[in-house]
Amino acid sequence: MADTLFHKIIRREIPADIVYEDEHQIAFRDIAPQAPVHVLFVPKVDIATLNDVQASQAEVIGRLHVAAANYAKQQGFADDGYRVVMNCNGHGGQTVFQVHLHLLAGAPLGRFGT
Ligand code: 5GP
Repeated sequence: MADTLFHKIIRREIPADIVYEDEHQIAFRDIAPQAPVHVLFVPKVDIATLNDVQASQAEVIGRLHVAAANYAKQQGFADDGYRVVMNCNGHGGQTVFQVHLHLLAGAPLGRFGT
């Protein structure tokens, strides 16, 4: 297993506010939330960036989205809406090199570019 910050959270070597976990992925609150709800969904298989996802791993990425939508429904903000974002490499603003999906919610987020 790789050794990013998120792997350390998966291995419980550093604490996190975990809101969901199954055999494939883990979800925890972002330490520097950019919205009232800001949760990160992280697969347990090592994938550094979206560029590294193989066709055979499409389900890994799909599962992150399904888990995020399920969390939104469970928490009662699915109908109000939310945003999911995956940053890739420098221009995308990625800082932790284990693929992850940001779930942002809890307030109107505005439109990109406005
Ligand atoms: P990225 O910039 O790679 O798309 O997202 C990484 C996210 O990890 C950032 O939103 C950042 O706030 C969050 N983060 C950085 N360090 C920690 C930490 O120690 N714990 C948690 N829960 N989130 C972190």
